[in-house]
Amino acid sequence: MLDVRQHLGAVLGYLDLAILVETPDREILFTNQPFCDLFGIPAPPQALIGQNCGDMAANSAAAFADPGAFLALIDEALAEAKPFAARRLPLADGRWVELDYVPIHEDNSYVGHAWLYRDVSERAAAEAEVRRSEAALLALVENTRDPLWSVDSRLQLVNFNTAFRRLSEQRTGWSPVTGAPIALAIPEARRHREAAIYRAVLQGRSHEFLLDLRADGVDRLFDVHLAPIRVGTTVTGVTATSRDVTDVHHTARLLRDAKEAAEEANRAKSDFLAHISHELRTPLNAMIGMVDLTLETRLDARQRSYLQSAQSNSEALLGLISDVLDFSKIEAGEMDLERSPFEPREVVEEVLHFLGPQALRQGLELSFQARSVPGRILGDAQRYRQVAMNLIGNAIKYTEKGRIDVTLVGQRTAQGPTLMLRVVDTGIGIAVEDRRRVFSRFARSRSSRRTSGTGLGLSITSSLVELMAGRIELDSELGRGSDFRATIPMSVVQDEPVLASTGVAVLASPHTSDLGPWSEIATSLGLTPIRCTDSSELVKEVLRARRDLAVVIVHDGLPGTPLARIREDLDGMASVPWLLVARTLDAEAPHPSISLVHRPLLRTEVRRALQTPGDDAEGSDLRRGARILVVEDHEDSRRFMVDSLRRAGHDAVAQPDGARALAPLMGYGFDLAILDLDMPRRDGIELTEARRAWELRTGAPRLPIVMVSGHATEDHRKRAQQVGIDAFVPKPLTRQRLIDVLDRSLDLRPTVVVADDAAEARRLWSIWLSAAGARVVEARDGFEALQLVEQHRPDALLLDMEMPGLDGFETATRLRRTSWGAELPILGLTGHTGAEARRRVFAVGCSAYLAKPIRRGTLVDELRSQLWAGTQTDLGLGADVDVAHVDEDIAELIPFYLEERRADVERLRAAHAQQSWDQVRAIGHRLKGTAASFGFPEVGALGKRLEQAAQGSDEESTRRAIDRLDAILQAARLRLGA
Ligand code: ADP
Repeated sequence: MLDVRQHLGAVLGYLDLAILVETPDREILFTNQPFCDLFGIPAPPQALIGQNCGDMAANSAAAFADPGAFLALIDEALAEAKPFAARRLPLADGRWVELDYVPIHEDNSYVGHAWLYRDVSERAAAEAEVRRSEAALLALVENTRDPLWSVDSRLQLVNFNTAFRRLSEQRTGWSPVTGAPIALAIPEARRHREAAIYRAVLQGRSHEFLLDLRADGVDRLFDVHLAPIRVGTTVTGVTATSRDVTDVHHTARLLRDAKEAAEEANRAKSDFLAHISHELRTPLNAMIGMVDLTLETRLDARQRSYLQSAQSNSEALLGLISDVLDFSKIEAGEMDLERSPFEPREVVEEVLHFLGPQALRQGLELSFQARSVPGRILGDAQRYRQVAMNLIGNAIKYTEKGRIDVTLVGQRTAQGPTLMLRVVDTGIGIAVEDRRRVFSRFARSRSSRRTSGTGLGLSITSSLVELMAGRIELDSELGRGSDFRATIPMSVVQDEPVLASTGVAVLASPHTSDLGPWSEIATSLGLTPIRCTDSSELVKEVLRARRDLAVVIVHDGLPGTPLARIREDLDGMASVPWLLVARTLDAEAPHPSISLVHRPLLRTEVRRALQTPGDDAEGSDLRRGARILVVEDHEDSRRFMVDSLRRAGHDAVAQPDGARALAPLMGYGFDLAILDLDMPRRDGIELTEARRAWELRTGAPRLPIVMVSGHATEDHRKRAQQVGIDAFVPKPLTRQRLIDVLDRSLDLRPTVVVADDAAEARRLWSIWLSAAGARVVEARDGFEALQLVEQHRPDALLLDMEMPGLDGFETATRLRRTSWGAELPILGLTGHTGAEARRRVFAVGCSAYLAKPIRRGTLVDELRSQLWAGTQTDLGLGADVDVAHVDEDIAELIPFYLEERRADVERLRAAHAQQSWDQVRAIGHRLKGTAASFGFPEVGALGKRLEQAAQGSDEESTRRAIDRLDAILQAARLRLGA
């Protein structure tokens, strides 16, 4: 049988555990080698068995650092006979042991006990190390001024430092203790929110938040960062680090406030500048406008020269004010450039056109050449004009004699296409030491002292060029001249020139140097240039070109026959434009049909000449005047606008403030509104909003709105754009600017369908009619005409009666049966003459009869009378209501007259509803009677139409005539303020 005790003894002998088993009277039953080693007993363990341990105790105690304590522990254990474990005792040699005491019982009686000693020196050392580093760590935590703390997964505090204690005490008055819920450190009101954050962090996400203690009555801010404590993959708690950011925030706020204050001050400054410059410009503009108008009246030479001087001085002042404003805008970083398509060559030519006379006056030769300049590029036309104006203006100003050569060149570079404007003069030049300076503000060169100037222009110019991402370069030699080059990158919208024509341009100049640039102009317009150097050549070439001739350009002083004679001789020849290029300002056109332009010849002028009809179509513009509402509080500007618009053939009605403009604006009476942005009581923006809202509500057509403003900041401009304006015009308003913007915002061209099977006839009529301001749609036969009329709803149809397929007679008949063709003015063209031919044309419903061959003037005149006399278009507001021309006695009665007519409208509506045609006719007849003497010819015309419509029981025409009458009366009342 196996001796268990022996085996166990062997096993225990191997353990690194000192064992001593004793009987109750301390006789040793078992021990092992580690025990002997521990107490320094030289004998083998077996030798100890049977010995009494009590005798050895004193010896053994010597091994301990505190023998007394050891003996006391042994005595206590023996006396109590209760087990204990892991009593840690230091040994005399510095090691540590742990002692277990195990009483042994057999059958419930105490039979002895075992002592177990483990050497735990290493563990004790490690633990001591941990304690030390923990203490260091805690000291670190403790000593930071930032509150730090941690909680366990039940959100109970584990660790925290004094800063946290202070924080807690400040927030809730609670002095934290380990193991207490963190909630106690959070004020009631915020407990829920913060606890939620802790819980979120326990889900594993870090969190940061700003602890604003001001609500808790503490004027501090803490940035708190909570992070999960992970043991393996589980989150066992949360550490919180925080930082007092009160001061940082305070500083940041101070900085922000300071920045805002600075920005506000800057805004105020530019607002002020914008405002004051508006205040200065408004009266100045009014003065310029008035002087402008006065200069067009009959004046004697002295008056004229005084006014001209007033004008040029006001303009100089205006320029100065604009410069100062621009300059301050650039300084404030508020110069925003526009990016819309413009024609760069036209912009430069415009400047040359404007400055050319000054150069001529000084006897300077001004030349212009353009090379590879695209038709349209993207950018800010107005600012580009400013650059050109400054550079060319300076060249003229600082050059006493000699020449100025302006070139505009499109270039391809590695960085993309660029556009260079180069201005070379033979003037005073700029010294080397001044060359950089002249670009800074208020700087002027020494040599320029005698000329007046502010030194702002070039500074603005170079800033503008820089804003356009370009650069400006300067070469100069003192006393010899200067060479300025402004180069900007460009994005090309259209390569070709905007309007291209076809045909031959006959160019005649004794100076061959002119013919090069002139040919370039012709070619770039799509014309074939033919050059001549004397008058006999000129005559020959004009005759040779014949039908292909598009334009004749002649330099004054061409040797040979006088130009007037040539023109007269060739009079039957063509109705093409003739341009005379003069070298002096006082040159006069030798013949009424020859237009005068000045050197240098500009493409814009040629283009304009090509677009305007020749002399036999004098006054043949088919465009009608627009009905325009002007709302402007400044009286002089208002008068200026109304006057300018009326002169341009429009019908303008003015209102002095936004409130009064509201009613007319919400109606159908106008083609366009011009609103001032800044007005007391409703400004232009509010008015625009109101109109757009009204359009939305009623489905009324969109009224083009032009906004004018004297101190438009970018902000204003944006707001105006947002509420839906169509164009923005900065003041100063010039007449040209006003007319230009109208041209852009309003299409007043009538649409005419031209139907003829002969291509050349169609083409000829198209050219005539386009030149007269119509939009032309060509149809090759009757079918196409029917289709195009339905599609385009034109204002008139020019119809060849003799066409193969569906002829004009059939076409007209069919058209008259459609709702869109019923009232269309149809001009029937036929090769047959005589009463019978005429009768046939009218029989199918044509409104006019024209016999071929037809002259341009006849065609345009007939078309015009058809267009505006009839029903298709109307001059609405009673363009003819010219109260000034009505007898004074009668003028007083106009309100009553209008009142009566209102009643007629009611009566007509009732009669129309009941189809009482007799009554419609009677009222129509009455309308005819007095209309003219009250200044309402159109009311008379309507009376006639009503009579006719009633005759034919034509319900539709009657209704339209009544509506029309209604509109006229409303507009008239509005206009007369009745
Ligand atoms: P201003 O002409 O009003 O003095 P600018 O800023 O346009 O101001 O020009 C600054 C200065 O540069 C001018 O005063 C003049 O001395 C010099 N300058 C500019 N253009 C020329 C030029 N083409 N020839 C000679 N000097 C010029």
